[in-house]
Amino acid sequence: MARRIGIDFDNTLVCYDRLFLQLAQEEGHALPTNLGGKTALRDWLRLQPAGEIAWQRLQAQAYGPRITEASLFEGVEEILSVWHQRGDQLFVVSHKSLYAAQDQEGVNLQQAARNFLEQSGLFERQLLNVEQVYFEQSRQAKVARIAELGCEIFIDDLVETFAEQGFPQGVRQILFGECLSPPDGIECCRSWQEIGRVLE
Ligand SMILES: [Mg+2]
Repeated sequence: MARRIGIDFDNTLVCYDRLFLQLAQEEGHALPTNLGGKTALRDWLRLQPAGEIAWQRLQAQAYGPRITEASLFEGVEEILSVWHQRGDQLFVVSHKSLYAAQDQEGVNLQQAARNFLEQSGLFERQLLNVEQVYFEQSRQAKVARIAELGCEIFIDDLVETFAEQGFPQGVRQILFGECLSPPDGIECCRSWQEIGRVLE
């Protein structure tokens, strides 16, 4: 039976690991070798002088003008393609503010994210439908949208989404990422291949 599957955008569909490291290098940060991905970079940067501001500046770039240099997580296209062939309805539902905290250029982050999707080829290949992409300005609005769309499954890299008041009951909760001691009722997947297996 066809399913209604909701998917978060940042760090669930879109991987920023390499982009953040690239931006940090461009800014002249002397990064330790073998620094993992985005989270490790953030934790390292925050320990540096004025690190929090530096981190916010990188975010303004990565989620704004430079977003088209980010990438889809490995396996996304294959799995979306399988679901598309099954006839599943796919929705992207994301909490995204309009502007970044440390941005002087006034780049619209929601538009930047749409540009990324446009360029990814997912619309062209009909793996996603442009009318089924929602960027909301608060987490509350995000969970309200998930409820309104009647998603049966939701995939997100943040447990906070599932814990938000108003997150609809009975929705299957798939947490994507490291998944250290997830709360009851949440299924963990460390890769999109694993998501594909769990939601076969
Ligand atoms: Mg996310």
